Amino acid sequence: VLKVEDLHKYFGKLYVLKGIDLEVKKGEVISIIGPSGSGKSTFLRCINLLEEYQQGKIYFKGELITHRNINRIRSSIGMVFQQFNLFPHLSVLNNLILAPMKVKNMPKDEAVEKARKLLERVGLIEKINEKPGNLSGGQQQRVAIARALMMDPELMLFDEPTSALDPELVKEVLDVIKDLAQSGMTMLIVTHEMRFARDVSDRVVFMDDGRIVEMGPPEKIFSNPENERTREFLEHFL
Ligand code: ATP
Ligand code: MG
Repeated sequence: VLKVEDLHKYFGKLYVLKGIDLEVKKGEVISIIGPSGSGKSTFLRCINLLEEYQQGKIYFKGELITHRNINRIRSSIGMVFQQFNLFPHLSVLNNLILAPMKVKNMPKDEAVEKARKLLERVGLIEKINEKPGNLSGGQQQRVAIARALMMDPELMLFDEPTSALDPELVKEVLDVIKDLAQSGMTMLIVTHEMRFARDVSDRVVFMDDGRIVEMGPPEKIFSNPENERTREFLEHFL
C-alpha cells in the first residue's frame, strides 16, 4: 500500500531523515519506536506531505504522492495525533460528519448513520451530541479515531496517540487501535507503549538519528535485538 524510498529531510541545516526506506503491505501493522528527536513524527508527516522533503519518493498504492494528488490521497490516509485536534465548537457528531460531507459529498443522513456506527464501535454513542471539551482525553482520542475512520481510510497513521493521556485512559484508546488492527486495517503507529507494540505489530521499526536502525518481527526486536542502540533504548523500558 505504501512505499517509501530513500527519504531525506532537512529542517534548514538540521538533517533529520537520513534515507528512510520502508514498504508497508496491505493489512500490515507497523510500530515505530525510537528516542525523542529521532525523526518519527517528521517521517509520518512526510507521508501525508504535511512536511516537505528534499529527496526520496513516497508511493501510495503505486502512485507517487505529489502536491497535485495530495488532497485525493489524504482522503485515503487517516491520521491521529498526540493532541486530539477535534473542532472544539462542533459536537462529536458534527466533528465526524464534516469531512465526508464536504470532501466526499456524502449525503447527511448517510454520514450520520455511519457516524453512529463508528461511535458505537469506539464505545461513545452516548456522547454523540457533546462538545469535545466535555469529554475526557481518552474519549476525545477515540472520537478522533472514529472521525478518521469516517473517510474509510486505507492506511492509518498514529503519532503517539496515547502520550498526552493520563495513565488510566491509555488502555481504552489502545483497545480501540487493537480492535482496528484485528479488523485488518493497515497502520503505522509511532508509540512508546512497548507492550502494545509487541502485541499488535507485525513488524517493529526502530529509528535512531534519522535512520531505520533495525526492523523486524516484535519477538525479535524486543527479545533479541541485533543493534546495540536498539538494545540500549529498550533497556530504558524494562
Ligand atoms: P518525539 O519522540 O519527541 O516525538 P520524534 O522522533 O517524533 O521525537 P521529530 O519530531 O520528528 O522527532 O523531530 C526530529 C528532529 O527534527 C528534532 O531534532 C526536532 O527538533 C526537529 N524538528 C521537528 N520539527 C521541526 C520543525 N518544524 N522545525 C525545525 N526542526 C524541527
Ligand atoms: Mg514525535
